[in-house]
Amino acid sequence: EGEVCPGYNSFDRICGLETEYGLAATGTRRHCEASEAAMAMFRPVVMKARSTNTYLENGARLYLDVGSHPEYATAEARDPMDALKQDLAGEAIMRNLASSAQQELRTSYGAGTTVHVFKNNADSSGHSFGCHENYLVRRYVPLSAIKSQLLPFLITRQLFTGAGCVTSDGFEITQRARFVEDGVSSATTRVRPMVNTRDEPHADPNEFRRLHVIIGDSNRSQWATFMKLATTHLVLCVIEEAARTGKRSGLEDCALNNPGAANRALSADLTLHAADMDPTDADAFLSGIDRFDNATHPTHHSGSEIHDVNHHTTGRKITALEIQYRYWSVASRFVNTHRQAMTQSLPHSDCDEVLADWKMTLDALQSGDLSFLRSKVDWIAKYELLSELRNRGSDISYARLRQLDMDYHDISAGVTYPSLCRHGVIHTLVSADAVRSSVQTPPNDTRAALRGAFITAANACGGEYACDWTDLKTSRPQRLEAQLIDPFSTEPPADYQRLINSLHVRPSHRS
Ligand code: ATP
Ligand code: MG
Ligand code: MG
Repeated sequence: EGEVCPGYNSFDRICGLETEYGLAATGTRRHCEASEAAMAMFRPVVMKARSTNTYLENGARLYLDVGSHPEYATAEARDPMDALKQDLAGEAIMRNLASSAQQELRTSYGAGTTVHVFKNNADSSGHSFGCHENYLVRRYVPLSAIKSQLLPFLITRQLFTGAGCVTSDGFEITQRARFVEDGVSSATTRVRPMVNTRDEPHADPNEFRRLHVIIGDSNRSQWATFMKLATTHLVLCVIEEAARTGKRSGLEDCALNNPGAANRALSADLTLHAADMDPTDADAFLSGIDRFDNATHPTHHSGSEIHDVNHHTTGRKITALEIQYRYWSVASRFVNTHRQAMTQSLPHSDCDEVLADWKMTLDALQSGDLSFLRSKVDWIAKYELLSELRNRGSDISYARLRQLDMDYHDISAGVTYPSLCRHGVIHTLVSADAVRSSVQTPPNDTRAALRGAFITAANACGGEYACDWTDLKTSRPQRLEAQLIDPFSTEPPADYQRLINSLHVRPSHRS
């Protein structure tokens, strides 16, 4: 019997983004609860799917749990660019639902009613909600490596993925640092971890786990969403390969003593240069600067004693940027030594471009040239905007600043973000046409393509179906089911083919 070749290579990955949205209705004649706006938004969904939990023709999941935070989880993508497009499709879908909900609510709440949909992470009552990243990771990676080698990356990457937040104390780089505490755990309720280890791989559990990253902010910047996923992919490749071979990754020395404290410190440090990261072994980290970062690390030869490797450094703290430069150096070296497999791992994006963009970003943060990042980094775009308003001499109240902050994240009624894009202040990566097409079309190189085709066929013939990430079922016209256990595979299994064939028969009229 010949060897079975899996439909994926060693560094291929599946990723997906779950985005929860916040809701509000303003301009109403009497108070309208967010939950009522949510119900109005989901009325058309329930009519069609008879549930507030449904999968769409583009392979995504759209749902509303109890409460008022609708969620859209993208279909499985191999490439961060596809995940970005699918996430933008989610924005478009939410925007449409909000627009019909607004029509409906106006009949009972008055013609001035506006429905707001916030792609942010904290509402006015201090409730935090999330943007979860999901990454397929090889099972042989121990959770201890996730904690010591990935977590410091997830914390410090917020220098360019943070969405920024106006608070009563001023301005913070991230939306969630005040809410996430713990490092890596299975809890999601009382203490919020940064990485959730709940074990639902939606794939062969012997081979994979699904890493559930919940530390991240929701991004409006398309660049930030893309870079968040792309750089994390590169770092995960390094960690996986070290776990597979038993060799050192070069990231061991990045481990932090107290991730929660580091996360809050990073979020609060607008100077970007505070040495407030507390590595478990500062000596090891600092002596590694010579091995890893020569010629790439601009502060290295600055003469500051913190970089003097002969100096006694135990207990010394380092800057978040120093940690980021280490990740960049290790990832960059790794891409060079695993060029072919790494190139294959990103079907539509270029590892070298990701690395170059990452490096330019770090250099700009290092030099303090924030204007360069205004077009890409959410917290900087927002911060610069608010600073400009203040500089115009206008005496802006905290309430007005909060309102501007919220408006930036409002995907349905907000004016700030679209205006920044129109004026070229913020760059976009995906055309409006491409977003429209992603509302209908799943990524074509994962099982999402099969799920999407199934749902499209079922809808076309009025069939009754149910599905989740791995299972597809019909109850009309026939009771059939199929499993898609391999997220990489676009090969239709036999039972899938039977399912699709059954849907070409038009069922008799519904009674
Ligand atoms: P919750 O909303 O309770 O956090 P959940 O985390 O289980 O639920 P969903 O909201 O159902 O997740 O979203 C799952 C996400 O994981 C989707 O974006 C999907 O594309 C992605 N995904 C599905 N299968 C895999 C896989 N094998 N590896 C990585 N990501 C996956
Ligand atoms: Mg979810
Ligand atoms: Mg989740």
